[in-house]
Amino acid sequence: MNLQDSPTTALVLDDNGGTRRQIVSDLEQSGLFNQIFEAADGLDGLHKVALTLPDIILCDVEMPRLDGLKFLAAIRSKPETEHIPVLMLTSSLDRGVKLKGLTDGARDFILIPYDPQELAARARLHLNAKRREEELRKQNQELELLSNKDTLTGAFNRRYLNHILTVELLRAARTDSLVSVLMIDIDHFKQINDTFGHQSGDHVLKRMTAEIAACLRDYDLLFRYGGEEFVVLLPDTSLLEARNVAQRLCQKVHSIRFSDALVNLHLTVSIGVAEFPGMNIGTAEELLEHADQALYQAKENGRNQVI
Ligand code: GH3
Ligand code: MG
Ligand code: MG
Repeated sequence: MNLQDSPTTALVLDDNGGTRRQIVSDLEQSGLFNQIFEAADGLDGLHKVALTLPDIILCDVEMPRLDGLKFLAAIRSKPETEHIPVLMLTSSLDRGVKLKGLTDGARDFILIPYDPQELAARARLHLNAKRREEELRKQNQELELLSNKDTLTGAFNRRYLNHILTVELLRAARTDSLVSVLMIDIDHFKQINDTFGHQSGDHVLKRMTAEIAACLRDYDLLFRYGGEEFVVLLPDTSLLEARNVAQRLCQKVHSIRFSDALVNLHLTVSIGVAEFPGMNIGTAEELLEHADQALYQAKENGRNQVI
């Protein structure tokens, strides 16, 4: 979506109706916005964000029901809203609150009473930054379409898997050799996002990709198949050998130690293994389908295992 072509909107959260209307009125004066929405606390704010997806949010720190910092954390934990700049407004610049807010992803802190022109200038600054980030993300997506790599993890992407798997199977059929694939899915990954936030989830994906890649041989290939699903392509590898690789990966992932907020996280994966050629496995689709069925069984059997 091109921001330039769509109306620019803001959301103002403040439980004090007088302050809120003043902020709205000052923002209206700035001429930056086509529409400004209001919310009386964090819960109301989350509801309005979901409805309106504003371009920028100005948020009071102290509010009943859900305060500004908790609101901020909720916004930053969802992929649909994590890129919306949040500017915190407060009448007491408590150092702890400010540091927490900035660490949790607030773009700015504005002290009340504020200078209306400065408020508008800051809002413009963050709107422009958001537009540039959106443009960059769009360019990255376009580049990714042209490339073989997933931008987040650096693993090969699904598009490349579709291409290379067909090539590998043709080669295996010609040389009478075997190809195995592992279908890997992180266990309860949604909980990691829900507990630690989407950015921590991204960090886990990157770290796990690096650890798995380090365990593989030079000619094995690692692909990001979907969100938290990966495929490993093992040329010249039998089902038995592939199962051993998969078990090694399972243990490796379980042994990863994270730091900071993730220090108590014990990541596990479930892995389905399949071999080409095999009974009802004559194409790339069938090979992936069988690995996926095995993965499903591994999940059903209790996760953190290889089938
Ligand atoms: P299961 O053990 O059954 O696999 O449970 P799960 O929670 O891992 O599986 P589910 O399919 O319910 O959830 C996968 C989650 O992965 C949901 C989705 O939001 C998240 N996800 C997908 N792509 C990304 C990404 O790029 N980054 C982050 N942080 N999360 C992602
Ligand atoms: Mg999963
Ligand atoms: Mg999944």
